[in-house]
Amino acid sequence: MAKFQVRFDPDVCKGCELCRSVCPKGLIEMSEHVNNKGYAPATTTRVDECIGCTSCALVCPDGAIAIYKEEEK
Ligand code: SF4
Ligand code: SF4
Repeated sequence: MAKFQVRFDPDVCKGCELCRSVCPKGLIEMSEHVNNKGYAPATTTRVDECIGCTSCALVCPDGAIAIYKEEEK
């Protein structure tokens, strides 16, 4: 069974929260720390709960999100 992981680029994110609003699993939150542009970037502590729907990556205006698929052995 495939397993998905979501990864955010904290230095590219502008903190618009669009990704957070579309995630059906509600697993995206905003960091308590600001990046080098002064924005609180999107992140998650529940990376393994991602179902790989790609909604967040598609909605992100800055291409700050990548979805990875791993084949479980
Ligand atoms: S790919 Fe889907 S489930 Fe995974 S973090 Fe993005 S919106 Fe949420
Ligand atoms: S949609 Fe993109 S720019 Fe906006 S908060 Fe999410 S990762 Fe950051």
